[in-house]
Amino acid sequence: MNYPSIQKEDPLVYEIIKREEQRQKEGIELIASENYVSKAVMEAMGSILTNKYSEGYPGKRYYGGNEIIDQAETLAINRAKELFDAEHVNVQPLSGSPANLAVYMGLLNPGDKVLGFSLDQGGHLSHGHPLNFSGKLYTIIPYFAEKDTEVINMDKVEEIALREKPKMILAGFSAYSRDMDWKRFRIIADKVGAYLFADIAHIAGLVAGKQLENPVPICDVVSTTTHKTLRGPRGAMIMCKEKFASAIDKAVFPGVQGGPHDHINAAKAIAYGEALKPDFQDYAKQIIKNARALSSALQVLGYRIVSGGTDNHLMLVDLFGSKQITGKEGEKCLEQVGISINKNMIPFDPRKPMDPSGIRLGTPALTTRGCTEADMKTVADLMHEALMNRTDENKLAAIKEKVKDFSLKFPVPGIE
Ligand SMILES: *Cc1c(COP(=O)(O)O)cnc(C)c1O
Repeated sequence: MNYPSIQKEDPLVYEIIKREEQRQKEGIELIASENYVSKAVMEAMGSILTNKYSEGYPGKRYYGGNEIIDQAETLAINRAKELFDAEHVNVQPLSGSPANLAVYMGLLNPGDKVLGFSLDQGGHLSHGHPLNFSGKLYTIIPYFAEKDTEVINMDKVEEIALREKPKMILAGFSAYSRDMDWKRFRIIADKVGAYLFADIAHIAGLVAGKQLENPVPICDVVSTTTHKTLRGPRGAMIMCKEKFASAIDKAVFPGVQGGPHDHINAAKAIAYGEALKPDFQDYAKQIIKNARALSSALQVLGYRIVSGGTDNHLMLVDLFGSKQITGKEGEKCLEQVGISINKNMIPFDPRKPMDPSGIRLGTPALTTRGCTEADMKTVADLMHEALMNRTDENKLAAIKEKVKDFSLKFPVPGIE
């Protein structure tokens, strides 16, 4: 990409952007929450829509001059409704965590009980981390995966719900590779009179691409980021049943946020438009095929995949359990050869969060670049070669060249 104005006005920032662009082109991106947006999405984010203030909602703003902005936000809302079969959509949340804060604020009072997936097994910070607003303001009761299967046992979830009588049940994750049983969550929530809130930040693109069951018609409220598998700008949205519309809208503004980011909301409209096209379903299907191929290829090389495989775009590798390499060592070694991953706790991890047993891998970014199953075998081989030679600087330098040669075969949509 050319940035002639930045180059002229601020060479320091220009230099940083160009170096990051090169890193993104020459590396293998396996971070499960990352992706590459289209040029159209990027252009909207860089547009003059950033100049406007528009506190409020379409037709009910606290600032004048919003008749055109209203059209952009309404377009994003209508496309999201179509994409997810939603009754009501709020596209203003600035990111996933503030979206979730708004959901808690809209439905609960401080101190209320929330049932959520244990953080060290795949839940998100905003699902009850003690330093996060969720853990500080609400009473969080965790549910867990089973020790032997590493899969959530819905009978146990029901048992905990019946015992604890939470006001809200939160279903969603950042590091879990199996399908969520939304219908069973609904039954359990109804039994105990709890709200059912799904956080589909990670899998929204797979739902929009019709490869995973859509929880929006089943749940009361669903939040998602827009920048992960959904492949839009950084941001989030909340979808809900009509009866929660007013509570959710008030919680977003004025509850949590001031003015919406209109340039980002226009980019959301573009991304939703892209996701409504038939080829987005091919992309979503390929993400899952690639995840399965990568998981199998790693298993053949002797790596243990948590729960034995994946139903979505991500997987957890028990690096310490299978190769006596810690997550931190693995992350550092792979970073040295240009393969981006993140260290991650595995269920019942005997190790600590700063140096856990596992690493998390995801295939959305590579799929966007056009990689298919055969390429996943190459990626697994490159990872293995690096990990097995992690103390040999010369070998790692040579592997980095191979990673670069591989990556440059696949153009990055927003860059080239
Ligand atoms: C990524 C993620 C979020 C938060 O997203 P941010 O935009 O980083 O605040 C929320 N929930 C889940 C499950 C996530 O994976």
